[in-house]
Amino acid sequence: MKYYSTNNKSTQATLQEAVVKGLASDRGLYMPEVIKSLPDSFFEEIKDLSFQEVAYVVADAFFGEDVEAEDLKKIVYETLNFDVPLVHVNDNIYSLELFHGPTLAFKDVGARFMSRLLGYFIKKEGQKDVNVLVATSGDTGSAVANGFLGVDGIHVYVLYPKGKVSPIQECQFTTLGQNITALEIDGVFDDCQALVKSAFMDEELNKKMYLTSANSINVARFLPQAFYYFYAVAQLHKLGKKDNIVICVPSGNFGNITAGLFGKRMGMPVKRFIAANNRNDVFFQYLNSGVYTPKASVQTIANAMDVGDPSNFARVLDLYGHSHEAIKNDISGCTYTDEQISETLLDCYRKHGYLLDPHGAVGYRALSEYLESDEVGVFLETAHPAKFKDTVDRILGEEISIPEKLQAFMKGTKQSINLPKDFASFKAFLMNE
Ligand SMILES: *Cc1c(COP(=O)(O)O)cnc(C)c1O
Repeated sequence: MKYYSTNNKSTQATLQEAVVKGLASDRGLYMPEVIKSLPDSFFEEIKDLSFQEVAYVVADAFFGEDVEAEDLKKIVYETLNFDVPLVHVNDNIYSLELFHGPTLAFKDVGARFMSRLLGYFIKKEGQKDVNVLVATSGDTGSAVANGFLGVDGIHVYVLYPKGKVSPIQECQFTTLGQNITALEIDGVFDDCQALVKSAFMDEELNKKMYLTSANSINVARFLPQAFYYFYAVAQLHKLGKKDNIVICVPSGNFGNITAGLFGKRMGMPVKRFIAANNRNDVFFQYLNSGVYTPKASVQTIANAMDVGDPSNFARVLDLYGHSHEAIKNDISGCTYTDEQISETLLDCYRKHGYLLDPHGAVGYRALSEYLESDEVGVFLETAHPAKFKDTVDRILGEEISIPEKLQAFMKGTKQSINLPKDFASFKAFLMNE
């Protein structure tokens, strides 16, 4: 399968090139040349398939031309060895819990899949060893570090701002060791991101080592997110609910929801999507006005969605041939303040006994406001509430417990390297590695 750039259809790459490079040289995002439709027979039997079985069918449609069947199957079965349950919350509303993986957030799916696919290209296709640089304000670092842990031929450097990530988040990427190095930068998140960008542009550094990024625009992180949408449909079919399915996605960079839109294009029987935003609502504004105006992000309690210029917006436009009308037919939007998010989290817990995290709360609220009586709604619960313990405790006025998996990270020994925020120091460090 060939991949083209959203900036220019004639800029083409193989899957291996697209995965290793991440972003096309013209700064566009890679799109698969063909989005295959899945046969009716698949949707007829989907209710009887496991998550891994569903995922393999979808993975084969994306990657089957480029990865040996046996290897692809192994990648799917190894990376998706956790449950993605659909849990009833109230009325016609269900939560798709995406937090049963190693770092308790949906980013585990893409990060794990990408690491194995990159590992495959290194082992089978003679790809040189790669060094992954990732700047994080918390969640991405933990998913990427854990996803890539122990994969041969790959070394990961996680750059994070000193004192600016919560202790629970920090321990998830500083206690791992092996091929994961945590770099504690004396600065803010933007400094970390600037260091990574400068490194990619530095000729001397790129001669010495093969550098790549593992951010959410990478096709190997982005496409696998489609798997669990199909599995949500499978679970609804099992409950006898086949019609008028609405999926609501708490959105920031719009990678997650775009993978769902790919699923719809492949024939997944979903009526419509809702993109739920916090106060960072440029997509909502675009739906209303037809004009896209990126803004600086504002800080909210659903901070993984604090994005003012969603990187995957280019993919949404491309998928719908830049038609505002066509986009509005499939997706509606909404935006909530921190007060509304807190109120929803507390209300849902009190009335239905279901504990949301601040991101899932945005999704649940949208369904409770906009779902019609003949529709059945699924929102993606993108992270476990304990990942945002301080916020959730404050809203509930009580202490929530921390799952075993997170506690295990907190028992590890922190290993990190302190660096100032100037590029010369960072470069000198990498040159000595
Ligand atoms: C990353 C993230 C999101 C936003 O996902 P996008 O793909 O960037 O839209 C939502 N919730 C949580 C918990 C996240 O970590």
